[in-house]
Amino acid sequence: MTDAYTRAVNTGLTKTLAKKLGLPRPALLRRYKPGAPLTVGPVLVVSDDASKADADTLARTLLGWDLDVRRDAADDARWGAVVLVLTETARPEDASGAVLAVGPALKRLAPSGRVVTVSRALTPADGPELAAVRSGVDGFLRSVAKELRAGATGNGVVLTDGVGVDHLSVQATLRFFLSAKSAYVDGQMLPVGPADVAGEPDWERPLAGKVAVVTGAARGIGAAIAKTLARDGATVVCVDVPAAGDGLARTANQVRGTALQLDVTAADAGTRIIEHARQRHGRLDIVVHNAGITRDKLLANMDAARWDSVVAVNVASQLRINAQLLEAAERGDVAGLRIVSLASTSGIAGNRGQTNYAFTKAGVVGHTAATGPLLAATGGTANAVAPGFIETDMTKHIPFATRQVARRLSSLLQGGEPVDVAEAIAFLASPAAVGVNGQTLRVCGQNMVGR
Ligand code: NAD
Repeated sequence: MTDAYTRAVNTGLTKTLAKKLGLPRPALLRRYKPGAPLTVGPVLVVSDDASKADADTLARTLLGWDLDVRRDAADDARWGAVVLVLTETARPEDASGAVLAVGPALKRLAPSGRVVTVSRALTPADGPELAAVRSGVDGFLRSVAKELRAGATGNGVVLTDGVGVDHLSVQATLRFFLSAKSAYVDGQMLPVGPADVAGEPDWERPLAGKVAVVTGAARGIGAAIAKTLARDGATVVCVDVPAAGDGLARTANQVRGTALQLDVTAADAGTRIIEHARQRHGRLDIVVHNAGITRDKLLANMDAARWDSVVAVNVASQLRINAQLLEAAERGDVAGLRIVSLASTSGIAGNRGQTNYAFTKAGVVGHTAATGPLLAATGGTANAVAPGFIETDMTKHIPFATRQVARRLSSLLQGGEPVDVAEAIAFLASPAAVGVNGQTLRVCGQNMVGR
């Protein structure tokens, strides 16, 4: 649910009052609805001279998605999105024409509009000038995202290892950033590698025929993930502890999936997940490690029970289950496995009172980077999503004032919804996203903490 303040400054008298008083006005974000247009208006594609061929290719891709694509920044349009292509820019001076063309277009960017940069990753072989421009795009994009208003976001697709702009994973990432599915993803640069995509993407039901397991699915973000994966066509196995049996049954019924009562810290949790998925549904394609707990205390007051339980649930269980999944992949029992784990911005930036939680969530970022390459051999990927402040039962218990501050300290001036995290996970689990591997994608509205 959108928080009460955000609702108030967007409705009736309180909206007028907030305007008069100059209060911060978080926008009502546009979220995905089946059948709704991909963007809210025409898409402007701009590039420097050197990147023009790539911009042409991307423009053709966008036209293929039935978008109204324009190449002239002077057009008097209410832009739905601006795509800035800087893939072949060689020197910092060469970016100015394209970047300065984007500036005026931002004044006509529609609410919940999008700015997406497409650039290349820094490599050890880059000379100083190329390195400067490639790194420069990162600083540029993160700053543009902070300048956007009215629910608009800025994100970047970063091509690695000689990947071309026509690669399906590049297209899938661009599409995700343009769409309403990335409503709460802001200020993020996502690297895309060269792995082969099997078949043509089905943009409407990308997970049709897949079997997915979601842990911690009884409520909150886990329940939203189960629903979103089911919407995208997956059959979903919902996992949670026996004590959460009612919520678990509810989610499993809603998604017409199956329920598996299981504590993820059990020694045989991975094996039981694989057996359940294969016996009941014939296969296993996606595992989402969402189950997680907080036991906050300053380190000075930390006890073993708090520290050890958080380590056991948030990271040790994922490692043990992944080891069992990797063994199954080696045996050929599963193939092309997609693992997506829940990290947290607390693990990236650190958070007072959360040494235990941040230790485990940073651990998730680390093991994800290490596991991705291990799964790539069998066509799989491992990625993580790091939510910022999301409106759930977990965050409902944060004291009122801290909660208000946490919400407003992001470029979008509000907390995210469970579905925002779920959309990012559905994207990372989709066949066309196979080029995204070992990464952690923040879903935090460009939370002002950390990188
Ligand atoms: P939540 O507390 O609402 O739900 C967590 C679910 O996990 C519950 O249903 C719980 O029963 C289940 N669970 C806990 N321990 C388990 C175990 N041992 N085995 C199986 N299931 C278990 O939490 P949420 O807010 O929905 O968070 C979901 C995930 O997102 C967590 O990993 C959390 O750390 C992460 N996250 C949340 C936020 C946020 O703002 N809410 C921010 C960053 C990260």
